Amino acid sequence: MGRYQFDLITIGAGSGGIAASRRAAAHGARVAICEAGRVGGTCVLRGCVPKKLLVYGAQVREEIDDAVGFGWSIAGARCDLAALISNKDQEIARLSRLYERLLHDAGVEIVRGHARLLDPHTVEVAGRCIQGEYILLATGSSPTRPAIPGIEHVISSDEALDLQTLPRHLVIVGGGYIAAEFASIFRGLGAEVTVVLRGNLLLRGLDQDLRSHLQKAMEQRGVRFLCDTVVCSIEREPDGRLSLLTNAGEILEADVVLYATGRAPHTAGMGLQEVGVRLTPRGGVLVDAWSRSSVENIYAVGDCSDRTNLTPVAIAQGRAVADSLFSGTPRVFDPTAVPTAVFSLPPLASVGLSEESARARHRAVDVYLSSFRPLKHALSGRDEHTLMKLVVDGETDRVLGCHMVGADAPEIIQGLAVALSCGATKAQLDATVGIHPTAAEEFLTMRQKRPPHSPGGAERGDGSG
Ligand code: NDP
Repeated sequence: MGRYQFDLITIGAGSGGIAASRRAAAHGARVAICEAGRVGGTCVLRGCVPKKLLVYGAQVREEIDDAVGFGWSIAGARCDLAALISNKDQEIARLSRLYERLLHDAGVEIVRGHARLLDPHTVEVAGRCIQGEYILLATGSSPTRPAIPGIEHVISSDEALDLQTLPRHLVIVGGGYIAAEFASIFRGLGAEVTVVLRGNLLLRGLDQDLRSHLQKAMEQRGVRFLCDTVVCSIEREPDGRLSLLTNAGEILEADVVLYATGRAPHTAGMGLQEVGVRLTPRGGVLVDAWSRSSVENIYAVGDCSDRTNLTPVAIAQGRAVADSLFSGTPRVFDPTAVPTAVFSLPPLASVGLSEESARARHRAVDVYLSSFRPLKHALSGRDEHTLMKLVVDGETDRVLGCHMVGADAPEIIQGLAVALSCGATKAQLDATVGIHPTAAEEFLTMRQKRPPHSPGGAERGDGSG
């Protein structure tokens, strides 16, 4: 028995906290997990999972539009948003109960209520004090928005997931993951959608060719982009609609305004700084490669530590902490080559370095680019191209980045992420036998290097894949 009632107290039952707690318990640790709301966290309750269910809902429109070329006639199809939201809610409730059961089955005690640190080993939850050898912070993040007049009229992705009626015109401010995904969802469901970008291209940080390809594809599907534009104020009109004043003096009318301007770590009101936990300027818990904070026995994983804010990363960080503390084989999570996907319509996925980052780090970089019309669209008639891109170290032939915009991109890039983390070379991709006819096989047959200084795709347009 240790000095304390628990070996590990986790604060926050989201993806990172649950994974770390279950792993620690599997190593024989006595674990408590504190949670003020439902079990599941952002990913399960307000993020990845409900969002993806709505993306599936929006994708049905695409299938209906494409069906005619395959001989189907589907007239008068419409989506009952309230039904979709209610079915989504039932699935989320089922998943939350499932995670709760998994914690129980692992022997993790769930302590209900808001947690606050009294000292580095003592946590107060709903009037009860519990003590632990180690504390793991896994409290996530929440949406942020700029303080402009009328900002109280807007919603975040949290409320967008619960809308009961489809807005006629939705304005989305921001150009990150959430903006791209929610624009696709609501456009697919039939709303008019305008995305307001303060720059001229969405998804800063990702490969430039992908960003412009996706933006064009979303435009073709009817999403309107208003670039180099900042919203200065918002007013509610007597008829209930919202009017937005932009820096260009333009007035935008909307039924609903969604702000997707980033998320901030959840670290306030928990007594962290009082016990010596240092925070970053953005309010994230400052941690080292072991996810250890400035207080020796306090760790932080996931969005509250504000590193790569993705669910699988939080899970991997959490498991690495649990293994390091309780299995006798310390290890750090390696954050290189983390694949990522934007579940927009069409989807985008990426692993490794963008061309821009590769050129900044490597002396010689070869780029292979292919843009082609997928076989399906030979009959659907949809004028949409898939983009694939390989970024290769010109000196070693090692593949540095794989990128794609098009149907099934996240599924395809997941497989290539394995190759990339094994250090695959371009020659090894070329020597791999493809599955025909697929889009994925195109990654194995990219022969033509893009000449330097020639942005844009090599059009194949032969309808394969
Ligand atoms: P992001 O941080 O990805 O993007 C924020 C966007 O808002 C950027 O386009 C930024 O513009 C813009 N912005 C920031 N401040 C302002 C402002 N004051 N006025 C106008 N525009 C502004 O945030 P998201 O909200 O999209 O996503 C939050 C987090 O959730 C991300 O870390 C993401 O990784 C994660 N996430 C991941 C998903 C996935 O893996 N599929 C899905 C959804 C979310 P600029 O580029 O000019 O800075």
